Amino acid sequence: MSSKKTRTESDRLDHIIAEVRHDRERREKTYRGRALKMFPWICARCGREFSGKKVRELTVHHKDHNHDNNPPDGSNWELLCIYCHDNEHSRDQVAEWYDETTPAGGQEPRSGNRPFASLKDLLKDKKS
Ligand SMILES: [Zn+2]
Ligand SMILES: [Zn+2]
Repeated sequence: MSSKKTRTESDRLDHIIAEVRHDRERREKTYRGRALKMFPWICARCGREFSGKKVRELTVHHKDHNHDNNPPDGSNWELLCIYCHDNEHSRDQVAEWYDETTPAGGQEPRSGNRPFASLKDLLKDKKS
């Protein structure tokens, strides 16, 4: 009957993680949409043009590498194709522009055997 005890904690953590992720995705979508409206759909590095569904391969790069810096005039943005963007970030992390890939397997490891359970039994044994 008390199997639910540990769930609340991990549930809350799941919720927080989901919230943060959702928030980031929403923010990325917004500035991406704005950048796409503002600039021609051309990679600023290789000059490839994009249209229709292909525009998925066009990503927003932040010139100062700070994705929290999103001035309304778009001065910190640059549209780059995923290849040039990859190049641009080859030294540091590229996670910034992955707006669709979420790591598979969102499950947490099951905490089947918990070391404390046996410890508790031990203590209980001593007491009685
Ligand atoms: Zn390019
Ligand atoms: Zn970038």
